[in-house]
Amino acid sequence: MDIINPATEKVIQSITTDDRLSVGKKVQKLKTGQQAWSKISIEERINILLRFGELVEEQVEMLAEVLTSETGKPLEQARNEVTGAHNRIVHIKENGTRWLRKETISSEGAVTEEIVYEPLGVVANISAWNFPYNVGYNVFLYALLAGNAVAYKPSEFASLTGLKFRELLWKAGVPEDVFECFVGGAEVGEMLLQADLDGYFFTGSYRTGRYIAQKVAPKLVPVQLELGGKDPLYVMEDVADVKQAAVNAAEGAFYNNGQSCCAVERIYVHETIYDAFVGAFVSEVASYSMGDPLQKGTFIGPVTRKEQLAVLQDQVQDAIALGAELKTGGKGKEGKGYYWEPTVLTNVTHHMKLMQEESFGPIIGIQSVKNDTEAVSLMNDTSYGLTAAVFSADKERAMRVLDQLSTGTAYWNCCDRVSPNLPWTGRKNSGLGVTLSYQGIRAFTQPKAYHLKR
Ligand code: NAD
Repeated sequence: MDIINPATEKVIQSITTDDRLSVGKKVQKLKTGQQAWSKISIEERINILLRFGELVEEQVEMLAEVLTSETGKPLEQARNEVTGAHNRIVHIKENGTRWLRKETISSEGAVTEEIVYEPLGVVANISAWNFPYNVGYNVFLYALLAGNAVAYKPSEFASLTGLKFRELLWKAGVPEDVFECFVGGAEVGEMLLQADLDGYFFTGSYRTGRYIAQKVAPKLVPVQLELGGKDPLYVMEDVADVKQAAVNAAEGAFYNNGQSCCAVERIYVHETIYDAFVGAFVSEVASYSMGDPLQKGTFIGPVTRKEQLAVLQDQVQDAIALGAELKTGGKGKEGKGYYWEPTVLTNVTHHMKLMQEESFGPIIGIQSVKNDTEAVSLMNDTSYGLTAAVFSADKERAMRVLDQLSTGTAYWNCCDRVSPNLPWTGRKNSGLGVTLSYQGIRAFTQPKAYHLKR
């Protein structure tokens, strides 16, 4: 498989993909390895994962460069991702033992009642390319912590990063028969779906996620899906500083080129500050520097997948045909690289694809609303339910809006944020199940109830 640099369209490296034979052998190896891994103490497993964290910290620059070369993520953002994901390791250190150790629920009378959290076994981690550190850690670190072996399938657009994970996990002391990489595209993912595994943890698009859930349903093993979003942000007229609100909203929409599951994908602004907000927003976005992701100061690199350019073009054309106004951007760039200018459209409506379908790129629509009721109705008018944000000086008013939204995450005066302390979960077409928080630790276990009579 050729690994292509999206900034130059040059082949960086050719790597060997897995086939049916290698997948079978690796799965067999993981089944044996998992038995021994589950028997070592939680503390020992935590120490190995901490060592992995140290190895990553020691090589931030090299790891960030690998990530930039295969995804086009601007180098500064790649560094932020490599170091930022460390908070998962801290969370594991501080919480792993607490949530995985045996619990004595009752010991009164003749019967002692206990819960033991056993690992699931060998689990598949089929992953996405947009934040391979964050979304990979959310699954494979927590799965390993709980005593599982992991069949990690990096996205075909982040394979080199996936192979680095394997190298560093092995070096840290995770046995080679406890973590394996399965390299390739959809066909290798399919082979994992056919394998006899004990759980499927998927991060990616709604389309693939739904397919996976249907395909593995007869196995009756846990399936978790972290899928896409069409995340709304509502700016109320009482914000302390309209310009600052616009700057923050733009960062939420355009960081990582808009290729975040929780990127702001739609903006609603109260009509009384609409013009001021749009003016500040457009001037902020127009100031973004687009170009070589290795260059210091670049905020907008190429999009990772060439196919996404056609999606962005279609959303812009559809919006303009239906009456939207193009404020800035709206086209690709001449020459090599999968570049798309950061794009802002106003005068948009929910009849446009731009306001309904996940864009996953540097493009945003801004719509004016009359009041909170209209904002709630538009924010909920989506098949997705990942995150939603409200900017306002009034917490109670913001909470009244957030309480009415069907999303897994709600933000007041912030957006595009993930914390290991809180559950990461999507509603509707945004997913099924939970990663992170104590619930995301337990997600990789199966409880066993002991009734122990003296
Ligand atoms: P994708 O669905 O195209 O691919 C995801 C993974 O599934 C890849 O590893 C791919 O090789 C594999 N795959 C594809 N077809 C398969 C099949 N038939 N059987 C088994 N595996 C298969 O998604 P993507 O483009 O990698 O990721 C982008 C999407 O991921 C966006 O929608 C984004 O919002 C979402 N995402 C969600 C979260 C979250 O936490 N909710 C995080 C990151 C990304």
